[in-house]
Amino acid sequence: MIKKIIIALSTILLLTACEQTQEAETGNNWYDALPRESWSRFEKIDVGDNWFEVYKLTDNTYAIYEPYQWQEAISYLLIGGEKALLVDTLQGISDLKAVVDQLTSLPVIVINTHTHYDHTSGNHQFETIYGLDNPYTAENAKGHKNSEIGSSMTMNTIWKNLPDGFNISNYESKPFEIDHFVADGEIIDLGGREIEIAYIPGHSPDSIILVDKQNRMMLTGDSFYPAPIYVYSETSSFEDYFMASQIMFGYQNDVDYLLPGHNETMQPASYLNRLRQATMDILNPTTPFAQGQDVRSYDFGDFSIIVKDPLDFGID
Ligand SMILES: [Zn+2]
Repeated sequence: MIKKIIIALSTILLLTACEQTQEAETGNNWYDALPRESWSRFEKIDVGDNWFEVYKLTDNTYAIYEPYQWQEAISYLLIGGEKALLVDTLQGISDLKAVVDQLTSLPVIVINTHTHYDHTSGNHQFETIYGLDNPYTAENAKGHKNSEIGSSMTMNTIWKNLPDGFNISNYESKPFEIDHFVADGEIIDLGGREIEIAYIPGHSPDSIILVDKQNRMMLTGDSFYPAPIYVYSETSSFEDYFMASQIMFGYQNDVDYLLPGHNETMQPASYLNRLRQATMDILNPTTPFAQGQDVRSYDFGDFSIIVKDPLDFGID
């Protein structure tokens, strides 16, 4: 497992903001265990789209999952009494708006857990986008050309037929415009359903979590999922991520489930305590790690954290 991560790192470090989060390999192919068995716990909704899989998590919460591309990105649709909130918009491969239109007729607000392109590439399809007033966000909102991200979208990263009209050779992420800047601590009221925003940079400079206390769930984006978590890119900060894990832990009594941005959903909130402990363990020089090229990988069982080497903590 560790060897696999290190081999993967040498390739992945070449890609811009790549989110390769696989650890489900059980056979010869990276996709042999996909779609992951854990999704069968939820009711699958037919939306007439062969690329996305849609699951009903609760009466008013849907997950839109992309199991046929190795990032296994997940978007969430939170339905309130008056509005709906679409958290992340995946990779721009199939028609996400057509799917969302089938799930709700309410006005839809888009917000991103952070602006890596695998979470924002459907933004351009929607009218109302909320986001941070942050230079990193502004840069990513300009979109990404094929020359930047095309290497992440090849036939080697896909194991099912692509939707009609999607051309892999000119894949790009279209620009989008933010209509409303959100602040740390802001509440988005969807009408009888309030979603709290907490700013937690670390994985990226513009990472947020969204907390739905009424439904006891936290949308974690890439700040937590049960797989290798990336805190080693040029724009990541372990010092910030350490604080992020503390802030997330602060909600432990408010939530029962974590809804991550990749791989699997509805993970137990007990991970919040384990994540906080993990970041503290990383600060302990006696904690073992696997050495990669300019990175360290710390293994915590069903998740790991990849950081820079030397560790970027306490460095001015
Ligand atoms: Zn990311």
